[in-house]
Amino acid sequence: MLIYNSLTKKKEEFQPLDGKTVKIYACGPTVYDLSHLGHARVYTIWDVIQRYLRFKGYDVTYARNVTDIEDKIIKKAKALHTTPEAVARKYLYEFWHDMNSLNIQPPDIEPRATEYVREIISFIEGLIANGYAYEAEGDVYFDVPSLGKEYGQLSKQDFSERLVGARDQVLAQSELEKRKRDPRDFALWKGYDPKEDQGTNSSSGEDKSWQYGWESPWGFGRPGWHIECSTMVKYALGETIDLHGGGEDLLFPHHENEIAQSTGLHHKPLARFWVHNSFVQVSSEKMSKSLGNFNTIRDLLKKYSPDEIRLFILQTHYRNPIDFAPDSLDACKTAIQRLVRAVDCLGIEKKAPDNQDIFARQLAPIKLSTKELQDFDKEFCSAMDNDFNTAIAIATLFNLADTIGKTTDVEQKRQYAEVLLYYANLLGLQLTDERQNIDQETSKKLMNLILQLRSQAKDKKDYSTADTIRATLTTYGINIMDTKEGSTWEAGSVTAPTPTAK
Ligand SMILES: [Zn+2]
Repeated sequence: MLIYNSLTKKKEEFQPLDGKTVKIYACGPTVYDLSHLGHARVYTIWDVIQRYLRFKGYDVTYARNVTDIEDKIIKKAKALHTTPEAVARKYLYEFWHDMNSLNIQPPDIEPRATEYVREIISFIEGLIANGYAYEAEGDVYFDVPSLGKEYGQLSKQDFSERLVGARDQVLAQSELEKRKRDPRDFALWKGYDPKEDQGTNSSSGEDKSWQYGWESPWGFGRPGWHIECSTMVKYALGETIDLHGGGEDLLFPHHENEIAQSTGLHHKPLARFWVHNSFVQVSSEKMSKSLGNFNTIRDLLKKYSPDEIRLFILQTHYRNPIDFAPDSLDACKTAIQRLVRAVDCLGIEKKAPDNQDIFARQLAPIKLSTKELQDFDKEFCSAMDNDFNTAIAIATLFNLADTIGKTTDVEQKRQYAEVLLYYANLLGLQLTDERQNIDQETSKKLMNLILQLRSQAKDKKDYSTADTIRATLTTYGINIMDTKEGSTWEAGSVTAPTPTAK
């Protein structure tokens, strides 16, 4: 199995460090706003990677962290006059909701930065003790030059011209410049600065509630973003893991700095494989919150099904950019229907086997009864084994769907459809048939029609039909109430209340 390693810039044979055990860490969301299609792409890709590795028989531990303390969260809390904790909690729930809606399985471990502050502090103490970090006015910085040529191994670029850091939202660059020994140095610990509270209603500098900080050997403050991940990888999974990744924008500085920190602490590789996915682009620009050109998952789900969104994401290989236009997903509607029709013969009883039971995620093996199906499996797996090429894997699903369309033997059709559904599920596609799903509005219209027909029956003194309608609806949990103004209905109880005579 080949995986493209961003560290070596080539495809390499994947061998886990420890036999069949695979440890994965994907950088998770900073929870301060609703997720957009770019986020859907990253976490769908990691969802497919972990599903596929489990299918291959690996014992996977998949960690996806949550950054629940960060400048952007604090900024939002200030704007909303609430606490950073409340912002983080709200948007973490929203994130879970979106992930679940997209059939993205939850990770095995979901460490949150605020749960690891003690470990983060001890990690930083270790770096200071090893001579890779220094304190400056309540901040602690990683001393990049101390790592020599080991810094820059992932991003392979010249850092001489780099700016001071991303903390410009709250502190002037010049101020940070003074504290840093080298412009490339980055913050491990951000000391509480009363100036950051200026313009808010905690102006005295005494109220640290906005700040959401912790006591540390360097005073009150909070961790930097990069150190959170190095620490959570170490404590949740171990010093060296198999796969680490996220969007390609994380490669520098985030992942470069994670490597620097972990190298500085234990001089072992942080991850053996670095996997980075390309962006979702809008008119050749990255879709991002800051550019304001994003479509939230929530909005997309109003128009498209989870399968349509997933197909849109997976039909492009993860290392290629996806161009997004408002009608980009329309073609996926027709395409998904081709697959749904192909598994139609399985009937209404068919169910996706991945029921999101996080304790039993391994799919049971499926029988491949003919040479044709074995060939299909080979093609599908060789695409996935070649750096998770979902684009080609999906093409094999469509080919199988075409074969099913041409098959006349009922039993063979059924077997092939089961295989198609199984491999679609492996990519997280559910192929649920939504053609006969009726929304709430339509249900109401149907009920009104039924009541109208029942009323016409009663007018014609056809009480038998009227009673049959009422009795049948009662068994569905729908009660009809006859009043002088006409009949109304309500759902919710299986048996109608029996009137008691007084
Ligand atoms: Zn990270």
